[in-house]
Amino acid sequence: MTPFKKLLIANRGEIAVRVIRACHELGIKTVAIYSAIDKETLPVKFADEAVCIGPAASAQSYLNIPAIISAAEITDAEAIHPGYGFLAENPHFAEACLTSGITFIGPTPENIRLGGDKARARQTMKRRGIPVVPGSDGPIQDEEAAIKIIKKIGVPAILKASAGGGGRGMRIVYEEKETEELFHMAQRESLAAFGNGDLYVEKYIPEMRHIEVQVLADNKGSIIHLGERDCSIQRRHQKLIEESPYIFSTPKFRKKIGELAVKAARVMKYKNAGTVEFIMDNSGALYFMEINTRIQVEHPVTEMITGVDLVKEQIKLASGEPLSYKQHDIKFSGHSIECRINAEDPERFVPSSGKITSFILPGGPGIRVDTAAYSGWTVPAHYDSLIAKVVAYGRNREEAIARMHRALREFVVEGIKTTIPFYLRILNDPLFLTGNFNTQFLSKNSNTSEKEKL
Ligand code: ADP
Ligand code: ADP
Ligand code: MG
Repeated sequence: MTPFKKLLIANRGEIAVRVIRACHELGIKTVAIYSAIDKETLPVKFADEAVCIGPAASAQSYLNIPAIISAAEITDAEAIHPGYGFLAENPHFAEACLTSGITFIGPTPENIRLGGDKARARQTMKRRGIPVVPGSDGPIQDEEAAIKIIKKIGVPAILKASAGGGGRGMRIVYEEKETEELFHMAQRESLAAFGNGDLYVEKYIPEMRHIEVQVLADNKGSIIHLGERDCSIQRRHQKLIEESPYIFSTPKFRKKIGELAVKAARVMKYKNAGTVEFIMDNSGALYFMEINTRIQVEHPVTEMITGVDLVKEQIKLASGEPLSYKQHDIKFSGHSIECRINAEDPERFVPSSGKITSFILPGGPGIRVDTAAYSGWTVPAHYDSLIAKVVAYGRNREEAIARMHRALREFVVEGIKTTIPFYLRILNDPLFLTGNFNTQFLSKNSNTSEKEKL
């Protein structure tokens, strides 16, 4: 039985294609929406129907709630999948779907609201006994409050936007006297990016690893986890390479972090798929960082080692079906790594839009590529620069890396610049190969030519 007859995808690019694939495997008809500049794109070609919802500017198209709800109503779509980015973490959008009688494929508006208010989420978790790094209890009112907390916890500290995402709105305070200036900088950036200037403070953990856990929850309150992902290879707090499992994972470690993540999800009565992100310090201690209330860019690495189709699970869970897996049904096998290929200069990371003149995909054993790009397509400058995710699977990490390496050498993209050469350098880096890295990897590593200060 198909959970829905027809579903609308409120997104573009690779994630729109990913959702269309899940729907078609479930026997669900699909409606793509697109902006005027995205007419010649794969989601439009692959979906059963497509509706133009506005001009290129996101504010008038992919963020245009009334236009998207109307498109669903006109096409009789019973459900909307928001993908990631755009409206995926907008509680008003989830509510607008509900009031229009359309199923939102994701958690409840209240879940989204708490996840998007990182200061409050941190406070909630702390009160329920889930460890957080020392810092403010909820949002801070002004620079005076920041100075007071930083005096208490000491430098370095990090000022973070409560509404933050994509690594924006953060400032590291190395010296107490810089607090006031950095507070105003972070506040301005947060207001500009998120329309909200609320900040909170955390102790800055320079040598941290970013370890996150995929969770799935049904409407009856059952929650399971699908293991951890290590997303420590970052540039400016944005993930570039993700892998699962964490190289030094053990069954004991996975049980511990998995149970913490399930507890965090339970505390907030979480529904559907989500990701609980943790800071792991040098001693191996784990601290709750935030919960992302959507499908994650890096979800394929979890799919590769568990065999679970996370997008199909999201759709089934949203339709009210109970979890199709119990915790002991989730088995982990092998190792998977993802490289996010961006249309950017591989040295300076400035976006490189334009026409792709040649596009030859890698393949062969253990390689999956999620992309909506093709030869002849013009990459628009209006949106995120992610053009493909190359995902490698191997029996172990060595095999996954070897496959990634040869896949990236096979991958031909001409006409625009991509970050492929940058990944080829990382894959040869001794620290990457031994797994002895943390989120400072790129800023400390001259071999990868990232010399800018964070
Ligand atoms: P994830 O947490 O799923 O791994 P990120 O944290 O990298 O993904 O990004 C979160 C969301 O923000 C994604 O949906 C992505 O599309 C969006 N995003 C990431 N970087 C940028 C950016 N530079 N500008 C706008 N949106 C971005
Ligand atoms: P976002 O909402 O932008 O994803 P996160 O809170 O998840 O923000 O943090 C993103 C990244 O910023 C982390 O993966 C890590 O690299 C860095 N970061 C965040 N908090 C800290 C901290 N307390 N100490 C050190 N680095 C941090
Ligand atoms: Mg995060």
